[in-house]
Formats: sequence, structure tokens, C-alpha cells
Amino acid sequence: MRKNLRNLLLQGLAAALLAGGALGAVSTTGDQASASPREAAHAATNATRLAFWPVLKTGSRGTDVLTLQHLLTARGHAVKADGAFGKKTAAAVRNFQHRAGLKADGAVGPKTWTKLTSLTLRTGAKGSAVKAIQVQLGVKTDGVFGKNTSSAVRSFQKRVGLKTDGIVGPKTWNFLIATSTPAKPAPKPSTSKPAGSSVALARQLLNTRGITYARTHSETVDSRSTAYQNIHDMAKGIGAATSGNSHVGYKRVQLDPRMLRALITLHDKYGYTLQISEFVGGVHSKTSRHYAGLTFDANYINGIHVGSGAPHKKVMKLCTALGATEVLGPGDPNHSTHIHCAWK
Ligand SMILES: [Zn+2]
Repeated sequence: MRKNLRNLLLQGLAAALLAGGALGAVSTTGDQASASPREAAHAATNATRLAFWPVLKTGSRGTDVLTLQHLLTARGHAVKADGAFGKKTAAAVRNFQHRAGLKADGAVGPKTWTKLTSLTLRTGAKGSAVKAIQVQLGVKTDGVFGKNTSSAVRSFQKRVGLKTDGIVGPKTWNFLIATSTPAKPAPKPSTSKPAGSSVALARQLLNTRGITYARTHSETVDSRSTAYQNIHDMAKGIGAATSGNSHVGYKRVQLDPRMLRALITLHDKYGYTLQISEFVGGVHSKTSRHYAGLTFDANYINGIHVGSGAPHKKVMKLCTALGATEVLGPGDPNHSTHIHCAWK
């Protein structure tokens, strides 16, 4: 699964998050330094409603980076909005942090996001801060807070349970950037199969007790795109989210019904219990079938970790028999701890 250096950097962060337990209160950036236990507890109690602010640093990509770049420009640290967190973005972040009285480490966590988004925007507003909102909403990025943007804000607020006033203040900013609820309309399904069957299969899987889903990633941090969130989003009919840190950025895709049906068969017919470690989240190779909803990774079989005595060979064989055309596991590069079954 590991494909680049950024993941190595994020690995430590994931460990810190797991150790800390409180999503959003813990990061390896300067943000953590002065987080009080009270703040941490507060974040923990809100964890069910609020996903953590995404932590961005050199190497990050995607919609959240675009939002960051527009916000930096709005704050007087102009930087090109290309969605890639490079040296210039890092320098702009440091300058902003320095001026805002934060530790200037060039990484963007909860405190930096909070300072960056401490502005209220409403109809009539113009400029880069408006663009920062528009990229999250998936509307035209023209920097003009007009009717379209206003109605997109309202429907977003309604969807996440905020006051539907069309005004973007601190809370709406937070939900726009951090929430696991989709801010964008679902893109067209990636397969020719009707999404409806995938929705029904996802619901069936959630009632299949022997199949469980990882709530974290092994090398990246993104609550919107965990296997657990993916299957729940599919069951809700909104499609599974890819990671904003991945090659394809944050977007919604449908999980392929053949793959979902195979999971049910592996359990119901062959009696295997599985933990799915990734569907479309995480970071894989550039053209990975993960991003197309065609793949599952499983790291536990019958309660035993893959690579530590789990019967991975038998399950891999069954995946092939069930139509998977790319089946990898221990012995293949980067697959010593999980199996990977992909359909075409
Ligand atoms: Zn995989």
C-alpha cells in the first residue's frame, strides 16, 4: 500500500492519533503543543458529530489543499491554488502561522485551520475566501458569493444539521472542511452496474456480523474514507469517499456490486470472518483499482492477522474464483500484512 514518502510522515501521525484517542485534539503539528486536557475532552465528546480537521503538510493533495491555498491568499499570503502542498504553500503557511502567533512549523492542523477560517462570509462576499468555500461545496469557483453559493451553503447546512442561514461562520467552516458528511454532489457511479444493487449489498453487509471494517488507515489519516465510513456511506446511498490525500483527491465512488457480493459469499458460504482494512480510502498506486471501488483489502481473516498465520492463501484463491482478477497477499511487494482482491 505504501507508495510515497508522505505516507511515512503520516504514519507517525496516525500512531499519535491512535494513542491519543481524541480525534481532532491530537496532531504532530504545533497545534498540539498547547491543547489542554479540557479541549481534548471537548473534542472527544464531539467526535461523533465532528470529524477532525484534516492535517495537511508538504506532500498533501486534494480539495482541502485547494481550500487552504485560497485561504492563505485571502489572508495576504498569496499562493497558487493547484491543490498540491509544495514548498511555496509550506512557506506561506509558516508566514501565516508566524503572524498569527502560532508555532511556525508549516503543517496545518486544528489551530491553524481555526485561525485561517475565523472569518464570516455571506451573500455579496467576494474573493479568495469565497473560492475556499466553493471548492468544498463543489460549485463554480468564481470567488463570488452569489445565489448559487448561498443555496449550496444552505443545503449543506441542512444536510449536516446546522442552522440553515446560508452564512459561513466558524461552525460551517469547520463542518465544510472537517465533516465526514459529503459537501459535494456524488459523481456519476464508476461502474455500469446500478448503484442501487450496491446500496442493498452494503446494507446486507452491515448486517453480516462476521465482516468488520477498519476505522483508521494504516498510513494516512482521513475519517471520511475509512473502510467503516465507506460501507456506511454506501448503505446510505451517497457513495464511498476517497481520501483527499490520494491521487484522485476527495470524491465519491460506488463500490462494485461484484466485490460486495464476494464478501458476503466469503462469509455466508465459506464461513470466513474478515476485517476490511480499505475500500476506496488510503493512498495506493496512481492507477489503483481501489480508487474505482473495485477492490477490498483485508488484514484479518478469522481473527488472525494476515501474515501471522491467517489462511490468506485459501481466501485469495476464493477471490479469484469469485471473479477477482488482481489478487495479492504475503509474498507480493507491500502486501505482507493484508490481502488485496480487485475486480475489473
Ligand atoms: Zn490493496
